[in-house]
Amino acid sequence: RAKNGGKDDLCIFDPIMHDVVEDRLAMSNELRGALDRGELSLHYQPIYGIKGEPLVAVEALMRWNHPVRGAVPPVEFIPVAEASGLIVTLGAWALDEACRQLRQWQDTPDTGTAGQLQVSVNLSARQLADDDLPHLVAQTLARHDIAPHRLILEITESMMINDVEAAIRRLRELKDLGIQLAVDDFGTGYSSLGYLRQFPIDRVKIDKSFVDQLGTSQGRALAEGIINLAHSLALEPIAEGIEHEYQSTALDDLGCRFGQGYHFARPESPDMITRRLADNAQRVTTETPV
Ligand code: C2E
Ligand code: MG
Ligand code: MG
Ligand code: MG
Repeated sequence: RAKNGGKDDLCIFDPIMHDVVEDRLAMSNELRGALDRGELSLHYQPIYGIKGEPLVAVEALMRWNHPVRGAVPPVEFIPVAEASGLIVTLGAWALDEACRQLRQWQDTPDTGTAGQLQVSVNLSARQLADDDLPHLVAQTLARHDIAPHRLILEITESMMINDVEAAIRRLRELKDLGIQLAVDDFGTGYSSLGYLRQFPIDRVKIDKSFVDQLGTSQGRALAEGIINLAHSLALEPIAEGIEHEYQSTALDDLGCRFGQGYHFARPESPDMITRRLADNAQRVTTETPV
């Protein structure tokens, strides 16, 4: 197998690795100016009641439209921003932009259900560790006159387990503002179920990998365990990555009330969300009350 010959040899200079490092460096530099150049935006993915209720929340997801690279996926540029620390700046922008947009939805006539809509914003570890975060969140809410319970901040398990005491303290500060906290990608981290209880969290977002396995009896049992665990801790489970009708049905059977995924909607522009809100309003006004 000459083709793979030398594959495991020690490489002093690996041109591919070199390119990867160069590219990350280039990306890091370009990302620095991306915000000022208006290349960053937020898309919003609807979170629906699984039984077909109107839009209850949207998750803000960052998008980078690079003039040459085109759309750079967050899985590529978020880690770069995290490594350089730029994520603190980008994250503050995302929080502000999401709140500004929510205010705009609330102020738009004919978006009847926008008054109940919540917006969910992802946080990075660096942001959570920043002592200024609670102040920043409070300021941002005030700037756009957003009721605190309309904002959900998403954190991951890994951000909670590094320094449990510090994480609990920081999350309490955030909870004291009246906002909601969700654990993202739930089930993929290492958090022992025991100390999940100590964290002042409100929701868990069940990772897509569990939703993917709902077709097997084992996968279904696993999802059931997670959903029951969430309920027993008084946490609202929200399923991520629902792509098929059968998954939505299974989740409903298992008692999971909320979900997001391509089956319902992809992340989309603010205008599309405005239209969805208008449709909701339409439905509410045309339906005869029960
Ligand atoms: P996440 O927070 O877990 O967001 C959910 C991801 O799953 C999104 O990917 C969304 O587009 C994708 N998704 C939703 N439904 C489906 C589905 O049915 N099928 C499939 N295959 N995918 C689905 P996206 O937008 O590419 O974001 C990836 C990750 O990047 C996010 O995962 C989050 O960890 C991070 N991210 C995105 N925006 C931000 C941000 O503003 N700040 C921070 N810190 N991280 C962000
Ligand atoms: Mg998320
Ligand atoms: Mg997630
Ligand atoms: Mg995920």
